[in-house]
Amino acid sequence: MRRIVETTLVSSAGTPAKLPPESLPEVAFAGRSNVGKSSLLNALTGRRGLFKISKTPGRTRTIVHVEARLDSGARLYLVDLPGYGYAKVARGAKQNWGALLEAYLRSRPTLHLVVLLVDARRGPEDEEAELVDFLGRAGVPCLLAATKIDRIVKSRRKPALEELRARTGVRAIGTSAETREGIDALLEAILSATGFGK
Ligand code: GDP
Repeated sequence: MRRIVETTLVSSAGTPAKLPPESLPEVAFAGRSNVGKSSLLNALTGRRGLFKISKTPGRTRTIVHVEARLDSGARLYLVDLPGYGYAKVARGAKQNWGALLEAYLRSRPTLHLVVLLVDARRGPEDEEAELVDFLGRAGVPCLLAATKIDRIVKSRRKPALEELRARTGVRAIGTSAETREGIDALLEAILSATGFGK
């Protein structure tokens, strides 16, 4: 199993011009605030605090690129997307940050996968379902990370994931930053989407 051995903060972009060059394959993470995005990114990378930047006031509406290096030497970008308002993006709202996000999701040729985080206990709300549709129309592959899966009793986990899949049409992986359940499976999916799988 590959591991991420090094991570470097590259940029925090508030406008398309500030996004880094399209030099590495990218995997972006989207989810409403409190869904467990920073915890999941920390669990994936083994770095605490790295993604805190996206939570500091004024940075909540930026797209944060972090370069991750694998033990194989391969490199990719993990991209932290702003934490809310996807429904408005899907409807084509014209606020600055909405336009930034929409431009990014629509026209980033190096974007290989969007991981959409959904609280395992709540399932997809309208906004998440709309983002899945939006990505489908834009031709961007997407998978769901059902976060805080440790809070669902074991016997209910598989049915919950199957229901998520049935409702959205995309694969759902149950993840926990607390127990690390699903973290390896998510990394594997990320590496497979970016061409760095086994
Ligand atoms: P963000 O706003 O999406 O970045 O969410 P955070 O990562 O800050 O997490 C929000 C809250 O959920 C915090 O209180 C975390 O401790 C809690 N949390 C995050 N991940 C998990 C998890 O896997 N299991 C449980 N039980 N709680 C979690």
